[in-house]
Amino acid sequence: MKVFGRTTVSEILQDRIVFRNLSPLDDELPALDVIGKEIGLAKGYIPRKSNIDYARVIVKLLKHVQNLDAPNFEIDNLILVGDTLLNDVKAFGNICQVSGWSGKAFIGSENMDEPLKIEIDMTDTGEELYLANRWSSLCAFDRYCVESNMEIGSGTAVVIDLDKTVLGARGRNSHVIDQVRIQAVHNTVKRMLGQSFDKNVFSDIYEHFNSVKFHSFTSDNQDYLAYICLVICSGLLSKNQLENDIKSGDLQSFLQFIAIVEAQKHDLMPDLVSIHADIYDRVQLSDPTPFKSFRRNEYLSTIEFMGKSTNPASAKEILLNEIAVTEEVRDMALVWKERGAILFGLSDKPDEASIPSTELARQGYVPIHQVEAWSVGGV
Ligand SMILES: [Mg+2]
Repeated sequence: MKVFGRTTVSEILQDRIVFRNLSPLDDELPALDVIGKEIGLAKGYIPRKSNIDYARVIVKLLKHVQNLDAPNFEIDNLILVGDTLLNDVKAFGNICQVSGWSGKAFIGSENMDEPLKIEIDMTDTGEELYLANRWSSLCAFDRYCVESNMEIGSGTAVVIDLDKTVLGARGRNSHVIDQVRIQAVHNTVKRMLGQSFDKNVFSDIYEHFNSVKFHSFTSDNQDYLAYICLVICSGLLSKNQLENDIKSGDLQSFLQFIAIVEAQKHDLMPDLVSIHADIYDRVQLSDPTPFKSFRRNEYLSTIEFMGKSTNPASAKEILLNEIAVTEEVRDMALVWKERGAILFGLSDKPDEASIPSTELARQGYVPIHQVEAWSVGGV
């Protein structure tokens, strides 16, 4: 692996990005409520990545970008570059289905302990998936598209996933993204509990309830998990009690859990009363990211880990300790753009974890796609 200098995601994608709220950062593009009205979405409804309505919104946005950048061409085909077989492939299949474009998706998950392996698979709707265990296989994918009469250039919309694809490549650098999130939960709980915070107790609770066996209870939602850590670390409820109640089936959902805390809110530490009230209200409104201060800490932790070293010793060290840009994705995306393809970035990260608050923006903080990081890769 080599270090290719400092860059930003916006060097590749400009502001052609949406985070989880589907609200485009580029003000030339229409807001979600405008698109929502056109395609008949309920006001205020934000579809998730695996939902067909998400694809309907993205197709509209891609057509807008095409009109702005290359109005002489229409989009004929779609390329997706991502890292997950579930969410990315689902969104890819849905976008092809909604638009009628034919497509191919590159799904990368690096494993240098295995020999190079490429598998060709298919979505339910018959679009090809190119599954690779090297990010450097993106070059071979480009050639494969040419051989399959789908050269990536004018008339191609390229959709690029941000999380663990352009930033923190899966299997290579993705552990740092996970560490950053744990640090954000840690910092949030620590700040709220002050003197009563115990690092070992926190780590034990976080690791315990982050396990797959509790996913049906936590919905694998990190905001819920952060809140659970906060309540247990504060001493209001015990880890054993919670575990027993989940195992016995008395407690089946996070909604039930937060209702129990609401019933005992007079016993909460005084500092936690208003924090609990805010999260409780947001949960009642079905906000999927109700723990806003945790997500704002996630933003701060993320930028702290980007471009951290000023004079890097080695690629290995950067990949171990920092969030890096994936050079192979950066390089190939710029080639495709040069050939006339339009590029668009998708991130499933909540906006609060990706964009600074108004207060921080005033102090000069910028969204994560404008933050410098080292570009590292094997090309
Ligand atoms: Mg991803």
